[in-house]
Amino acid sequence: MSATEIKRKVTKTVRCGDVLIGGGNPISIQSMTNTDTRDVRATLEQIARLKDAGCDIVRLAVPDAEAAEAFGEIKKQAKVPLVADIHFDYRLAIAAIKNGADKVRINPGNIGSAERVRAVVDAAKERGIPIRVGVNSGSLEKDIVQRDGGVTAAGIAESAMRSVRLLEDMDFGDIVVSIKSSDIVMNTEAHRIISGLTDHPLHIGLTESGGNERGRIKSAIGIGSILAEGIGDTMRVSLTGDPVQEPVLAREILRALGLLKGSVNLVSCPTCARTKVDLAKIVGEIEAGLGPLEEERRKRGLANITVAVMGCAVNGPGEAAEADFGVACGDGKGLLFSGGKILETVPAEDISKIILRKVKEYESL
Ligand code: SF4
Repeated sequence: MSATEIKRKVTKTVRCGDVLIGGGNPISIQSMTNTDTRDVRATLEQIARLKDAGCDIVRLAVPDAEAAEAFGEIKKQAKVPLVADIHFDYRLAIAAIKNGADKVRINPGNIGSAERVRAVVDAAKERGIPIRVGVNSGSLEKDIVQRDGGVTAAGIAESAMRSVRLLEDMDFGDIVVSIKSSDIVMNTEAHRIISGLTDHPLHIGLTESGGNERGRIKSAIGIGSILAEGIGDTMRVSLTGDPVQEPVLAREILRALGLLKGSVNLVSCPTCARTKVDLAKIVGEIEAGLGPLEEERRKRGLANITVAVMGCAVNGPGEAAEADFGVACGDGKGLLFSGGKILETVPAEDISKIILRKVKEYESL
């Protein structure tokens, strides 16, 4: 029994290394290194940390020929698919593709002539890799901005569709589309519009959301609101600072929406004067123990489940009975439920241990 399921839009599928993007495949998590790409060792170290934190695909900026060369070295050793991020110089995109890029990200608007874009497209076709195209609200074509009297959600979507059509007209279909604004409302609306205009998979995010708590909250709301509408095939949280915090938050957003396979939706009450156990401690212990269990459930393809930990008999039995596993606490003890049935009464100090054991043993598919 998981949270209400989000009905995702089914898009076309593209392959980035061993990760499938779109077509109803799990929403892949991306991040971007902020090391100097020419520093192969430091970049590989950061890529490994990103992978350990749950990143499925890593993007690297390739600002010059030396970086394109280093990209090849990094690609040989990295254990995740790599995307080359290119601006302005189409030759760098071609070099990165030749050096093993699993995907390239370009903005055709700053690559130059159609011939240059075609040269990148031909190289991508030859290697069978996808191209991500799209726009940030800051890079809209002047004619769109002038016509609309400023940047609008529809204008952002239209600009991205120009890039999509440019590639489609070159008979290229392995496209991932991205549009980004730092304005949450405009960003969500632009994603709604583009989702209705194309079946190519969407890379979603909220650009320049800042750092620390504010950036995290902005990202969770901004990206979460798009995902909640069933839009998005791959995602990146963008935070100022160590990129490793990005996949960590991305997973939390997916988990909160029931979009992370094998995850446990943990429901717990805020506590009040009726609470007669140390609920914060119990919830903390359960949370701490869930990580490896969720990882195991994910590997085994098991379904999401809900665990409810409630402080008393007012809302407790109802919530606990709704969950796959739940406990409604009393004075120093808890009444354990599973799928609506009472199992047993257990002492407060054993609740977390017993719940974690139940999750471990639960085989739901
Ligand atoms: Fe208070 Fe009970 Fe509600 Fe928890 S479930 S907040 S203890 S009334």
